Amino acid sequence: MPNSNLETDKTSLTPADKEFENNIRPREIEDFAGQPQTIENLKVFIKAAKLRGEALDHVLFHGPPGLGKTTLSRIVANELGVNIKETSGPVIEKPGDLAGLLTNLEPHDVLFIDEIHRLSTVVEEYLYAAMEDFRLDIMIDSGPNARSIQLTLNPFTLVGATTRSGLLTAPLLSRFGIKARLEYYNAATIQKIIIRAASIMKTRITSDASEEISRRSRGTPRIANGLLRRVRDFAQVLGNGVIDLAITQHALKALNVDEHGLDEMDNRILSAIIDKFKGGPVGITTIATAVGEETGTLEEVYEPFLIQEGFLMRTPRGREATAKAYEHLGKKKGGENSLLF
Ligand code: ADP
Repeated sequence: MPNSNLETDKTSLTPADKEFENNIRPREIEDFAGQPQTIENLKVFIKAAKLRGEALDHVLFHGPPGLGKTTLSRIVANELGVNIKETSGPVIEKPGDLAGLLTNLEPHDVLFIDEIHRLSTVVEEYLYAAMEDFRLDIMIDSGPNARSIQLTLNPFTLVGATTRSGLLTAPLLSRFGIKARLEYYNAATIQKIIIRAASIMKTRITSDASEEISRRSRGTPRIANGLLRRVRDFAQVLGNGVIDLAITQHALKALNVDEHGLDEMDNRILSAIIDKFKGGPVGITTIATAVGEETGTLEEVYEPFLIQEGFLMRTPRGREATAKAYEHLGKKKGGENSLLF
C-alpha cells in the first residue's frame, strides 16, 4: 500500500535526522511552544504528583506525527526529575521483553512506549496489571511444571504515544489517567519554533523568511525544522548563509513545497474527491480505497489538518472538497475534472 511521507516520517528518519531532532528538541517545559491547554494541565498534574510523592498517573499523548509527543514525554520525565526509558510498540515482542523493561525501572520512572497501538495483544494484556497494580504475573516453565510467579514492580508512569488512538482497545485506553490530544500549531507558534531552531543552529534568519517557512509547514514542528534545514543548505551554497525571503522562496520552489504546506497524500485526497467523485460528498471508505490508504489513518492523520485549514468539509453524507480545495488544485467546480475510471 503506498505510504505518504507523513505516515512514514518517524520510521524513515535517517540517523542524521534523528541526531538533528535531538539537538533542537526542547528539554524544558518553558521551551515547548504551543499546546497551551495540555501544558497547563501537565504542570498541575506533575506538581500534584510531586507534592504527594507519587508516580505521575499514566499519560497518553495522541495526535498526528511530528507534533511533539516524544518531546513532551521527555519533558514530563525531566520535570518529574526521573529517568525515562524509551521503546516502541513493535519492539516489545514478548512478555519477557516487557518484564525486562519494567523490572529495571526505578521508583517513579517513566516508561515511554511510542506507537503504542502496535503492541501485541499478549504484551498488552500483561501491561494491564502492571499499569493498575504495579504487578506482573509471569508464567515460567511449561506443561505440568508450569507455574506463575508474581513480580512486584516499582511504581512507574507509562507514557504512551500514538498517531492512531482509534486503534487502542478500551481496556488499555481506560488505564491512562491523563489523555492529551496534540493539535496542529498555528503559523505564529511554528514561526517561534523555527526562530529557536535557527538560533540553536547558529543560522541567521529574517523574520519574513521564518514566516514563509512557517506557512508551508503543515502546522507541524517536524516539517518546519526539516524545511529550515534544507533552506539553510540553499542559503549557505547560493548566498552568504543568511536565510532571507528570496533564498527561502527559491529553496521552497526548488524543493517543490506546496503553497499551503500540503503534502502528497493531502493533495491526492483532494484530487480524488474532485476528479473521481465530483467534489463529493463521498464516504471516507471510498476515498481510502481511491488513494490506497487506511480509513483510520485518513481520519486521524490527514483529515484533521485538511478540515482545520478549510480544504475539506465533513457532512452527514460524506466528505466534500471546498472552494479553497478547487482553487488550490487549479480546478473548476462542475468543470471537466472528472476522470473515467
Ligand atoms: P512526535 O513524537 O509527535 O512524532 P516529536 O516529539 O519527535 O514528534 O517532534 C518532532 C520534532 O519537532 C522534534 O525535533 C522537536 O524538536 C520538534 N518539536 C515538536 N514540538 C515542538 C514544540 N512544541 N516546540 C518546539 N519544538 C517542537
